[in-house]
Amino acid sequence: MINLILFGPPGSGKGTQAQKLIAKYKLVHISTGDLFRYEMGNDTPLGREAKAFIAKGELVPDSVTIGMLRNKVEAHPDAHGFIFDGFPRTIAQAEALDALLEEKGTSVTALVALQVDDEEIIERIKLRGETSGRADDSDETIIRNRIAVYKNETSPVYDFYATKGISQSIDGIGGIDEIFERLSAAVDRMASIAKV
Ligand code: ADP
Repeated sequence: MINLILFGPPGSGKGTQAQKLIAKYKLVHISTGDLFRYEMGNDTPLGREAKAFIAKGELVPDSVTIGMLRNKVEAHPDAHGFIFDGFPRTIAQAEALDALLEEKGTSVTALVALQVDDEEIIERIKLRGETSGRADDSDETIIRNRIAVYKNETSPVYDFYATKGISQSIDGIGGIDEIFERLSAAVDRMASIAKV
């Protein structure tokens, strides 16, 4: 099994690259942001709970997010592997993910992090906001809060997996295909190391 964590700040291109990685490696894609948007769109109790946090650019509480993630993983018992996109976003989520995968007799193969600087991110998210219909993409204060949350709460997850020797940083500036080549090379390298 190949289990990838696609990592990086909001607006770094994770969703775009995830689509290409799924096609190449035949993995099941789990995006917690997409899952929350689906729940909010259907006005479910989970969606209503998440909405207040997402609107402010804050994280949804770990207990909610971890439970949702577990359900999604367990809905795919025959998967060849997973791409986790937007998860884990805290150390507690990373620990929960490791425990869940261990239960299933597997583990995280690699964390690949797209690196994009703040000003580029803000421009990209504002542009996306013109068409995405996402309230959290349209207000610069909220976007800046998401970046601050990423730095404070999420970036330690990179170091958590770096101590296990499986974090890889990738230049997220350039053409979509060019970035995908960098990502694929890193995934192939990490997958071959994991097999040794
Ligand atoms: P982006 O990466 O563009 O910020 P996402 O679509 O991944 O956006 O997530 C949108 C919002 O959903 C986040 O700002 C956060 O409020 C919530 N969210 C997504 N994933 C998680 C998670 N793993 N833990 C807590 N909250 C999350």
